[in-house]
Amino acid sequence: MNPSCPNCGSLNVRLKPLATRACGGVGAVTGGVTAATAGTTGAAIGTAICPGLGTAIGGLAGVLAGLLTGALGGAAVGHAIDRKLVQAYHCNDCGHEFAA
Ligand SMILES: [Zn+2]
Repeated sequence: MNPSCPNCGSLNVRLKPLATRACGGVGAVTGGVTAATAGTTGAAIGTAICPGLGTAIGGLAGVLAGLLTGALGGAAVGHAIDRKLVQAYHCNDCGHEFAA
């Protein structure tokens, strides 16, 4: 539940996704590192199943899974931080920015 704007009293406010963005980025970087590891693992599995094509597909799948997991995990953590800790809001009606 969003608070009301202290300037105009509007309930048309939104949470500024400060930490969501920052953590999404950090998560993507972390995911990238994980992706490199996952890519190697995926490639090894792919090689075991079907050398050549399996290596490429397994590696790619591993990298994508790592990136996605990292970015989503980071964004989820960031959103929780925004809601619980940062609590920076922007009023859509008067443009006032405030902390809850
Ligand atoms: Zn306002």
